[in-house]
Amino acid sequence: MAEKQFKAESKRLLDMMINSIYTHREIFLRELISNASDAIDKIYYKALTDDSLSFDQDNYYIKIVSDKKNRILKISDAGIGMTKEDLDDNLGVIAKSGSLSFKKENELKDGHDIIGQFGVGFYSAFMVSDTVTVISKAFGSDEAYKWESNGTEGYTIEPCEKDAVGTDIILKIKENTEDEKFDEYLEEHRLKSIIKKYSDFIRYPIKMDITESKLKEGSEEEYEDYTEEQVVNSMVPIWKKNKNELTKEDYDNFYAEKHYGFDKPVKHIHIIVDGAVSYNAILYIPEKMPYDFYTPEYEKGLELYANGVLIMNNCADLLPDYFSFVKGVVDSEDLSLNISREMLQHDRQLKIIAKNIKAKIKKALENLLKNEREMYENFYESFGRQLKYGVYSDFGSNKDFLQDLLMFYSSKEKKMVTLDEYVSRMPEEQKYIYYAAGKSNESIEKLPQTELVSDKGYEILYFTDDVDEFAIRMLMAYQEKEFKSVSSGDLGIEMEENEDTSDSDNKDHKELFEHMKNILSDKVDNVRASKRLKNHPVCLANDGELTIEMEKVLNSMPNNQNIKADKVLEININHDVFKSLKESFESDKDKLDLYTNLLYNQALLIEGLPITDPVEFTDSICKIMK
Ligand code: ADP
Repeated sequence: MAEKQFKAESKRLLDMMINSIYTHREIFLRELISNASDAIDKIYYKALTDDSLSFDQDNYYIKIVSDKKNRILKISDAGIGMTKEDLDDNLGVIAKSGSLSFKKENELKDGHDIIGQFGVGFYSAFMVSDTVTVISKAFGSDEAYKWESNGTEGYTIEPCEKDAVGTDIILKIKENTEDEKFDEYLEEHRLKSIIKKYSDFIRYPIKMDITESKLKEGSEEEYEDYTEEQVVNSMVPIWKKNKNELTKEDYDNFYAEKHYGFDKPVKHIHIIVDGAVSYNAILYIPEKMPYDFYTPEYEKGLELYANGVLIMNNCADLLPDYFSFVKGVVDSEDLSLNISREMLQHDRQLKIIAKNIKAKIKKALENLLKNEREMYENFYESFGRQLKYGVYSDFGSNKDFLQDLLMFYSSKEKKMVTLDEYVSRMPEEQKYIYYAAGKSNESIEKLPQTELVSDKGYEILYFTDDVDEFAIRMLMAYQEKEFKSVSSGDLGIEMEENEDTSDSDNKDHKELFEHMKNILSDKVDNVRASKRLKNHPVCLANDGELTIEMEKVLNSMPNNQNIKADKVLEININHDVFKSLKESFESDKDKLDLYTNLLYNQALLIEGLPITDPVEFTDSICKIMK
């Protein structure tokens, strides 16, 4: 019998997991029970929807047997079972393909996050076992197979005998070491309490033979042991329980059990609706972004149950895209078991539930923002972009629904603020909500374009996500205040009589500016005196609807159409550099040419735009230095 090797990356992960000081070894049981429960779900669903199959509710349970003497712990289920190929495919690789290479080596240092993140569930058995044996007979098959491994190099698969369909997982529990007592995973009472803690709400009975002592009949002091099969879990799914029976830890445990994320959720939402359409749901708002969130592999959706029976792992129709980060389960007795995926989309009940859920999620986020600001900000750091996409997409049809959940970094507060907070602080004479777009808060802070607006004492919102300006364009205004880029031609700021000289300045220097415009030809649409610059000699502004930041984003897209914003080169006529410009205009046109190109390139650099000819640019600087 040939031994098959684990896939290389699985081996690495296994090794790491087994040897890491994993503080929660006990969760191996949760993982195995959860797999057993999933396997029963599958066969249960088949039995309920296929009339040709016999159906006996009593078959569906999970049995745990501990044999202390031989250090064997066995977990059995009468679930769907696995074929030889299933055993090879499902238990031969740990991490789902590619997910490991996704993480950087250093993030994998210890096994802590791994279990939740990659769903290495089954392999956690090796944290407590020397050998793991899986004996399984698949539904619809006459053959049974045995898979066996010591978790280091590889595994074997061979035919074996098994009467009933289902799976036995047989663990050879490790010997105690100096630091660790593995014996506890053979103690009935310890096992029972682990099950209570993590698997209480599993829908199927988890049965164990528990030995207790009781007084011998007819005796007052003599005890005798008796063994009795007990169901150790309450079997009430967590979403059917009373909210006041549940602690935060219960919800967090369920989140972990379901592998919804490797973080702790910032919020859980427990919904119990008894109405035209009745349903129960537990939803979670995660804190951290899953590693695959912005990859095609990420599937949004909620687990969907029809009266306690799982009918779909990921029902996408229950969540709008802008809430795609939400995880959880929905269970409704008003849904038909036999409903197909295609029909589900048009199901009236499901639509009502989806609408209801959407409103609940929004309410939960609003409450989080209001009452637990820090938590909200953590959440927003991970998923704010998704909300902004939500404002922008579908032609803005959800913008009103989402606008109060948005936040941006504020120049004044030096932290994230909401639009409502911004507007409520606006001085009376301030007409617009100002924003500046750039790569990072630090780079925006230094943008010359912000000088005038900042000097006026107005707050500026910093846009650092590609989607920001597009989302805001979709909003157009918030509480009737329009948004305005600090780079836009008209800032809508009233100047004092003596300040506002730029119109006459433009007249005074008309010829110079025209000349400069000719030098730059179609690189810019205009050259003019700046109202907004205080300390910097030059900047780019834009006149049209399309801003320079938007130009950058659009042109970074795969099918870019080389879109151009209307650029204006603005010159600070109070800057010493301007004097040089004037002089060269009068006496040395070659110099003016050189200066103009230099200033233009400087403006591009400040804006984070590429300069067309870096060599020429550096040559020009050298020319001046000489
Ligand atoms: P996950 O449960 O997250 O998919 P696991 O490593 O725990 O990852 O299990 C891998 C796969 O092996 C499962 O998806 C399932 O298909 C199969 N499997 C595990 N345990 C059982 C079982 N008791 N009965 C049937 N199939 C099982």
